[in-house]
Amino acid sequence: MPHTGSYYAATVNEKTDFAPLQGDQRADVCVIGAGFTGIATALNLAERGYNVHVVEANKVGWGASGRNGGQMISGVAGEKHLSKNADDDLLWDMRWRGHEIIRQRVEQYGIQCDLKYGYVDVAFKPRHMRDLEEDFEKLQKRNFPHEYRLLDKQATRDATGTDAYIGGMLNMGNGHLHPLNLCVGEACAAVARGATIYEGSSVLRIDHGSKPAVITQNGSVTAEHVVIAGNAYHFIEPRLRGIMFPVNSFIIATEPLTDDQVASVNPMDLAICDPNFVLQYYRLSADKRLLFGARINYFGDDPGFIERHHKPLMLKLYPQLQGIKIDYAWGGTIGVPLNRVPQMGRVAPNVFYSQGYSGHGVNVTHLAGEIMADTVAGTMERFDVFASIKPTRFPGAHTFRKPLVALGVLYHQIRDKL
Ligand SMILES: Cc1cc2nc3c(=O)[nH]c(=O)nc-3n(C[C@H](O)[C@H](O)[C@H](O)COP(=O)(O)OP(=O)(O)OC[C@H]3O[C@@H](n4cnc5c(N)ncnc54)[C@H](O)[C@@H]3O)c2cc1C
Repeated sequence: MPHTGSYYAATVNEKTDFAPLQGDQRADVCVIGAGFTGIATALNLAERGYNVHVVEANKVGWGASGRNGGQMISGVAGEKHLSKNADDDLLWDMRWRGHEIIRQRVEQYGIQCDLKYGYVDVAFKPRHMRDLEEDFEKLQKRNFPHEYRLLDKQATRDATGTDAYIGGMLNMGNGHLHPLNLCVGEACAAVARGATIYEGSSVLRIDHGSKPAVITQNGSVTAEHVVIAGNAYHFIEPRLRGIMFPVNSFIIATEPLTDDQVASVNPMDLAICDPNFVLQYYRLSADKRLLFGARINYFGDDPGFIERHHKPLMLKLYPQLQGIKIDYAWGGTIGVPLNRVPQMGRVAPNVFYSQGYSGHGVNVTHLAGEIMADTVAGTMERFDVFASIKPTRFPGAHTFRKPLVALGVLYHQIRDKL
């Protein structure tokens, strides 16, 4: 039976141990949630000299940010809606901005998070290949500075070690990393810059006013601005829950592969992702385990169940791994808006939120952190691009999440097959 808990939690560089919030505190900005969105916002604000306090119900990176596939994918979901409010140059910049922020922070703060470049988008069908060809042309038009090329079936096989795909596109501008180590590294950088983080401090409510107060069981933070960054785990502001679906995704980690196995499944150490909505995504960890992720219609966290579901999918791609042991199996929750556009807005004039990145969160949360910090500082250009798109409200998205998400997954599974 695999371990309970994620491979990332077992291999984190440093276990954070920030004291819970006690007593009444004051700050320029209070951020709720210490995932990528909250920490990226806090670090950016701390770098600008703001006094920032981050209030986290669990631990830094406890949510999706410390559990994800670690695939650093370009692009902002729902771009076709965004293109109504932003010109091509701004959109292109936002597509890659998160990557740049991550690269800078890893370098500047010496964050050890196994950041590597190299990514293959794979195709099952000619229509997927046409999408990749369109992406390829966009990269050409922009003189994309990294290596990228379309791959035929054989070249895709050489890169991915499987015959499952008809083609793909290699892009050395995308990459992969250990997400929990990135999140913890950024949190420590924020603290070094003067930010305060409270763990084990569930926010019970926000008392709105000219200086909003964030209230927990044993304390409060009164601030000029509040940024809500609880994403799919958020539970205090009902208006933010009815506008996206909490969808689960799960990952298994094998025991470390032998050199021969590495050479046969992923010789170039690439992150690989298929184009389905009910997608599969996988890569090697730094210690050469295959981390294999897939979305399924399941709401529990039983590692045995996750292994029984995922292992056959992995072996279908890589029959040569028959008999391999699965050491870890875990899952987490992603926020998926109906129109896929990341949701940024206000619940009060001085209370902002950012959430709902639909599986592109590694990159886009870092863009969002910069946009939230800009917004607090009074620069609204990119905030307005998102905030002017009204999210589709779906009453019961949280309460009836299980049957609704099950129906949605079924619908997309059928579409993926067409
Ligand atoms: C299994 C899985 C695989 C994924 N794979 C990828 C991938 O390969 N590439 C990619 O780009 N994206 C991926 N994603 C998506 C990505 O992880 C998320 O989009 C991103 O991490 C969201 O970050 P966040 O900070 O907004 O939310 P989270 O990381 O979920 O953080 C929210 C935090 O807010 C806290 N919180 C909530 N409510 C309160 C409250 N009331 N009081 C205090 N704290 C509160 C929570 O405890 C949590 O720590 C994946 C997600 C999952 C689950």
